[in-house]
Amino acid sequence: MALIVQKFGGSSVANADRVRNVAKIITDTYKAGNGVIAVVSAQGDTTDDLIEKAQEINENPSKREMDVLLSAGEQMSASLMAMAIEKIGCPVVSLLGWQAGFQTSSSYGLARIRTINTERMEREIDQRKIIIVAGFQGICKYDDVTTFGRGGSDTTAVAIAAAMHADRCQIFTDVDGVCTADPRKIKNAQKLEEITYDEMLELATLGAQVLNNRSVEMAKKYNVELEVLTSFQYGPSPIDEILLTDEQIQAIKNNSAGRAGTIVKEKIAMEKMFVRGVTKDNDTARISIVGVPDVPGVAFKVFSKLAAKNINVDIILQSYGHDGSQDISFTVSRTNADAVKALLKDDYGTVLVDTNVTKISVVGAGMETHPGTASKMFEALYGEDVNILMIATSEIKISVLIKEADADKAVAAVHAAFFPV
Ligand code: ADP
Ligand code: ASP
Ligand code: MG
Repeated sequence: MALIVQKFGGSSVANADRVRNVAKIITDTYKAGNGVIAVVSAQGDTTDDLIEKAQEINENPSKREMDVLLSAGEQMSASLMAMAIEKIGCPVVSLLGWQAGFQTSSSYGLARIRTINTERMEREIDQRKIIIVAGFQGICKYDDVTTFGRGGSDTTAVAIAAAMHADRCQIFTDVDGVCTADPRKIKNAQKLEEITYDEMLELATLGAQVLNNRSVEMAKKYNVELEVLTSFQYGPSPIDEILLTDEQIQAIKNNSAGRAGTIVKEKIAMEKMFVRGVTKDNDTARISIVGVPDVPGVAFKVFSKLAAKNINVDIILQSYGHDGSQDISFTVSRTNADAVKALLKDDYGTVLVDTNVTKISVVGAGMETHPGTASKMFEALYGEDVNILMIATSEIKISVLIKEADADKAVAAVHAAFFPV
């Protein structure tokens, strides 16, 4: 018996029809002789709605209470999914994070998984039960419910696959797989057959929300191969039913979704396409400290102050010094912009904050062996009259900071340059 972990995101379980559709994917996988542990997210926009509800009552609620509230979204999904499966007639049990054995750190809202006690899940699987696990939650040493941060159900699935030594880990979502750009925004975005953990981690970190970056980090660490695929088109199509033999139709059903998505793994065959994707990240703000002394130690003082507050800094640019002073600019998450200004303004008079910026990146291993990549990207931006504010490169990505108003046309132009139709 193979053990298969399947994760279904919010849009895959958004309403009763979708829940029934997913229940069929799960039970078909089970009936084909597999053990199944399915992880579910909150339905549709439930998490956003819960955040809004909290804001109506208290604009600054404690993180602990937010975790109690947000974990309820996944709790609802898990029970509804189990009910849909009961109705189909398969044995099933829903488990909240703590019941599934997730022990986490106590950093509410962004908890890290410490250990997973797999006893309960093993027992249920041994009894041939389908398990539905409520995503993105666990329990900390104070016996409090914790959550893993937005998109954290992916991490729940990967963690279970690693801890239970599952044979497959399938991440079902609302698009066909990982694509060369967001397929909802870029019409010609192509689905990738395969992508490495490193490339996927970079894409996820730079704005492609299709997988949560922590889940990719964990998949790499425990060598869990991921399959990203759609839950929207399931099983044989009506035309397949007419054209294919019974065996072929059964084969599609046995392969759970039957439609190939994207495989995320350590190594992939060398491909002609070395740029794998174009992403945009709106969650970025530019901070500029103007006229700081051009002497040793300034950068150290600025960035150690931010590090002490756990504030992550991304692109850094230091200008050419003149008349004994210089400017330092860097980017941070928008949520940290005000805190950064408050931290620095007493020491350095002029601290400018610009939140109307976006980071556009191209990602692909092997970039350093293709010297034309940066100029191709810059040419595409120039062609759309887009001004570049900052640039950062590594062997696997090139990122530029531009005005947010230019973001959509910039992504379209850069994507068209690397993936012509
Ligand atoms: P789920 O609810 O299943 O977790 P998410 O909304 O978190 O789904 O992620 C899926 C979404 O990611 C897609 O609907 C798509 O708009 C977006 N996305 C952004 N970049 C990409 C990309 N490069 N490939 C595929 N999807 C992407
Ligand atoms: N429901 C949570 C969110 O919306 C977790 C998840 O969907 O993965 O972020
Ligand atoms: Mg998601």
